[in-house]
Amino acid sequence: MKKLREYIGCIHAHSIFSDGSGTYPEIIRDARSAGLDYLMMSDHMSLKGREEGFAGWHGDLFVSIGYEMNDAADRHHYLIFGLDKTLSPELSHEQYIQIVKEKRALGIAAHPFEERKSRAALPGFPAITWSNLDYPEIETIELWNMMSHWLELTTLKNVLWNVVHPRSFSTFPSKKLVDWWDDANLERKVTAIGSIDVHATKFKILGLVPKAIFDYKIMFKSIRTHLLTCEKWTQSDSIEKTEASIRESISSGNCFLSNYRRGDARGFRMWAENGIKMVGMGETGYWKSATIRAILPQKAVCRLIRNGQVILEQKTDNLEVLVGEGTYRMEAEKDHRGWIYSNHIRIKENG
Ligand SMILES: [Zn+2]
Ligand SMILES: [Zn+2]
Repeated sequence: MKKLREYIGCIHAHSIFSDGSGTYPEIIRDARSAGLDYLMMSDHMSLKGREEGFAGWHGDLFVSIGYEMNDAADRHHYLIFGLDKTLSPELSHEQYIQIVKEKRALGIAAHPFEERKSRAALPGFPAITWSNLDYPEIETIELWNMMSHWLELTTLKNVLWNVVHPRSFSTFPSKKLVDWWDDANLERKVTAIGSIDVHATKFKILGLVPKAIFDYKIMFKSIRTHLLTCEKWTQSDSIEKTEASIRESISSGNCFLSNYRRGDARGFRMWAENGIKMVGMGETGYWKSATIRAILPQKAVCRLIRNGQVILEQKTDNLEVLVGEGTYRMEAEKDHRGWIYSNHIRIKENG
């Protein structure tokens, strides 16, 4: 297998430049102490962090700064990386999706199918939704957004428990979204990333001193996206070059997401080989059959999914399966909770 470098980081964070509670120096300090290699900041409609010079290296942490766009109805939230200006807030989501694509920037559909299932859902936090995701220009989605998931699952009845145990409630990404993602990948490549959407909003609970729900430090130890790349990031490279490498790793699909709460997933690899060549996540092997292989840093219940259907389930740290044509991904579960989600590999006889 090609020697790949693995960079772990968190995507989707808000600072005081929009509705987050942390300053850049505070957020950067927390991301460094959590051991992240990179952090992708996305304040609502603001690139102030970039204008103030926070993009780039801070010790061993690389900070990339984009923003979160929304339409006039505050829907269709879209993370945008690689544009040096914010787009007009008057644009429709169809327009900004198109512009991002044309400018070869990275757009990520944020919390795509957010919902409020319970009538006891927390008041004041309506679901921020997408009408549908079936735009061919949408190439990347948040499969597991920690904050959005918390709001989906938190009600007036369990809010105290969920505040005190901020990472325990989020056991799996939304099934509806995973099903959509598998279906979409039968037609075209849609990459999944994990995100935290951290705001560290401070609330008064039972009249006590205001406390940040999900402070930055805790969220940096939850949903992470692991980027695999042949490129080595070096501090002597320009900020733009490293940011472009991050965007390329994501858009190529050579990345996976993990919930750090279940264990450090560094070292997970999945690939397909036919005895001569190999392809990684996000790639296609133009072969009639192949061996799908995966290695994990620890044993876990692994599921191999072909065209949206589970074809194998096995507790292992080393998977090897002979397969025919299809679109494959893997997920791993620990303690009956979701841990690792790979992107898809395609095996297709005719190119
Ligand atoms: Zn949002
Ligand atoms: Zn957000």
